[in-house]
Amino acid sequence: MSFASQGFAPEIVRALELGGYSKMTPIQSKAIPLARKGHDILANAQTGTGKTAAFALPILQRMLDDPSPRARRHIRALVLAPTRELAQQVSDNITHYSQFLPLTCAVAYGGVKMAGQARALEPGVDLLVATPGRLQELVETHQVSLAKVEFLVLDEADRMLDMGFIGDIQRIRAQIKLPHQTLLFSATYPPKMKQLASELLNKPKLVAVGEDNRTAETVAHVFYPVDESRKTELLSELIGRKNWQQVLVFVNYKEHADAIAEELNADGLATGVCHGDRSQGNRRRALKEFKEGKLRVLVATDVAARGLDIQGLPHVVNFDLPFLAEDYVHRIGRTGRAGLQGHAVSLVGREDELTAVQIEKLIGQRVRRVEQPGYEVTNREALLDKLHHKPAFRDRRGRTNRSDDQFAAERQLRVRQAARNRLKNK
Ligand code: AMP
Repeated sequence: MSFASQGFAPEIVRALELGGYSKMTPIQSKAIPLARKGHDILANAQTGTGKTAAFALPILQRMLDDPSPRARRHIRALVLAPTRELAQQVSDNITHYSQFLPLTCAVAYGGVKMAGQARALEPGVDLLVATPGRLQELVETHQVSLAKVEFLVLDEADRMLDMGFIGDIQRIRAQIKLPHQTLLFSATYPPKMKQLASELLNKPKLVAVGEDNRTAETVAHVFYPVDESRKTELLSELIGRKNWQQVLVFVNYKEHADAIAEELNADGLATGVCHGDRSQGNRRRALKEFKEGKLRVLVATDVAARGLDIQGLPHVVNFDLPFLAEDYVHRIGRTGRAGLQGHAVSLVGREDELTAVQIEKLIGQRVRRVEQPGYEVTNREALLDKLHHKPAFRDRRGRTNRSDDQFAAERQLRVRQAARNRLKNK
């Protein structure tokens, strides 16, 4: 489906054409018609699916259709995003979509002085993208009022909950006085997310692309079992041997990020880091150099990399598996974007085995395990046998020593056993 068929203003269509958008992504063709009609929306969409345009375009068009003069320090549309990087990126996208429109967009996030943001808000803006904490500060200091908000978007709502923004979100919502349209986007739906959705949304239309919690179909997943102490060595070897040119590496601890980068640089791989101890400017520069291809590898923590849009990123590596299986979905959302083939590689240490199984369950597929010659894990099978008795391993599907046929045969056996039990109980 084309954007022009949605009755968007020619100025919007022109901006989209300039950005190379010719047809809508699945989330866009599902969400846009509903949002244009004014429905609240609960959308299940990961980063990279085109969700920003899915919520921004209907709002821009609805503001155009129903113009209203700007009021000092007031806004008409508010987009909440979990991190500075995502807020900046969403704002950049919206500024692009609205470049030929008489509408203004501002962005506000923490970590930088408030004065510049307050100045931008002073005359009133049509759309503000903000992180919840900074927005609360701006509201409390009367730099912005939410009394005239007509559109509210929660982008990556699950991340905002994970980051403890629930109180801020509830306080922000309480300040919105007018009847308004709410669009909530989330990659995962834990119970507390469902609770928040029921508080914020009024008869929402549900929009989902793909199955719940499944990762983009264009991503190939691989697990490399490896001893913890040899992970950096293996990573360096994989990048070099396989000639990966642009690799985003996730780590759980920022201290590890620096050490890994140092080692990779020593191996001649231009590597940057992006984590919370680096200044905002430093992080932005590393990201820019990575996008431009000046850095071949970027080592990042989840918080710093959340929601980053790096177009056409071919390789994402989990140096450590994330603590929560859901974070795997977020991390690898950066690859396999907009129909391109992506590659999600995880280095799986002994400690990671349980999480590896949870990830397979969550994404609904068995992940190929590849033992890199020379990096075989010591005592791995003994460890797996021990873990096998733990409840989380009951449905384990990813063992290297069982073929798909064995797995299918076992499942058949379980189905037959269940049928026999049912007959017995009749
Ligand atoms: P998002 O999920 O909003 O972060 O979008 C992911 C990437 O896809 C961004 O670089 C967008 O500019 C791009 N994109 C979004 N919608 C389209 C579209 N309809 N056609 C081509 N690219 C798109």
